[in-house]
Amino acid sequence: MGIKVAINGYGTIGKRVADAVDAQDDMELVGVTKTSPSFGCELAQRKGFPLFCTEDSKARIAAFVGSGYECHGGLSELLELADIVVDCSPGKYGNENLQKYKDAGKKYIFQGGEKHTLTGQSFSSSANFSANIGITGTRVVSCNTTGLSRTLVPLFEACGSLKVECTMIRRAADPGDSSKGPINAIKPVLQVPSHHGPDVMTVKPEIEINSLAVAVPTTIMHVHSIIADLPEGHGMTTESVIQMWKETPRVIVMSGEENRITTTAEVMEMARDIGRKWGDLHEIFVWEDGVSLQGDRLYYFQAIHQESDVIPENVDAIRALMGTESDWRASVAKTDAAIKAYYGI
Ligand code: NAD
Repeated sequence: MGIKVAINGYGTIGKRVADAVDAQDDMELVGVTKTSPSFGCELAQRKGFPLFCTEDSKARIAAFVGSGYECHGGLSELLELADIVVDCSPGKYGNENLQKYKDAGKKYIFQGGEKHTLTGQSFSSSANFSANIGITGTRVVSCNTTGLSRTLVPLFEACGSLKVECTMIRRAADPGDSSKGPINAIKPVLQVPSHHGPDVMTVKPEIEINSLAVAVPTTIMHVHSIIADLPEGHGMTTESVIQMWKETPRVIVMSGEENRITTTAEVMEMARDIGRKWGDLHEIFVWEDGVSLQGDRLYYFQAIHQESDVIPENVDAIRALMGTESDWRASVAKTDAAIKAYYGI
């Protein structure tokens, strides 16, 4: 008997978290929700994941049955079966859903589309696992913030302080999304700084960081262009920074030139070769030949698979909140090994 996990919202993030939870031997997926019948129900049914409705309305539940899906009830019935719920609803449903989880007396995890203030606590495996142990609720930070944390937290720990300026070059839409853009423009985010950099400080307040963001017409990945000022006497070199990231969990460092992997298109082709479902890349990709330490100033680029880097973090967050693991590295190793075995890779 493992930790009983419910997924509320079986969309881009929810279906991936469901698989990642299903892969773990210390967790049991008790059900997933959809708002109404759609092709996503077919996937849940084929996987053998019990399907529930996001609402308790009898009419809405009946609509699933009318469309040929077996619906096991509404959200309240699902919550009764669970120890913890992972909320994967589209951003901004937070307040409404939070009250339902509180009423049911269940632990909860939200995603990065919600604000830090919703839960008062955020999560990133390497940054603040221990601050999340045993608490009632948290928010796994967004794909961009997760990406920044993965490379900046070990750098901060090696140097003792960091001042960072970065630009998020963001994909316009997810591959399965037909309603967002731009499709023929570069769109600056006219909120300066953008929320991404400051969001890192919700999990690692010691890192001083600001960011700008632009959306570009691509669907497959985000790219970050990062400048980090290291403290005097840091003792690092370009080579030692690269070596440190090579030893960091969930970071892949490869030479663009030598591996002929100079754009996000080749990065995602490599991800498809790795063999996770949907061609996911849970790791942050750093171009080795794009890393350069000049004096105390470090320059680098990294690429983020927005649909999947937060997936293993959600699994670690479940263990932290349930208090079944105290060492973030042990949780990360367990999560990643189970996902690897699940996909036979
Ligand atoms: P999505 O639109 O692909 O999926 C959301 C799912 O939730 C859909 O199945 C929808 O039917 C369902 N839903 C709708 N209303 C609901 C409600 N009231 N309660 C529960 N479920 C409801 O969205 P997504 O891309 O999976 O995003 C989910 C969350 O993850 C958001 O907070 C988002 O910001 C965050 N996130 C998204 C990405 C990404 O690249 N897609 C990356 C990191 C974090």
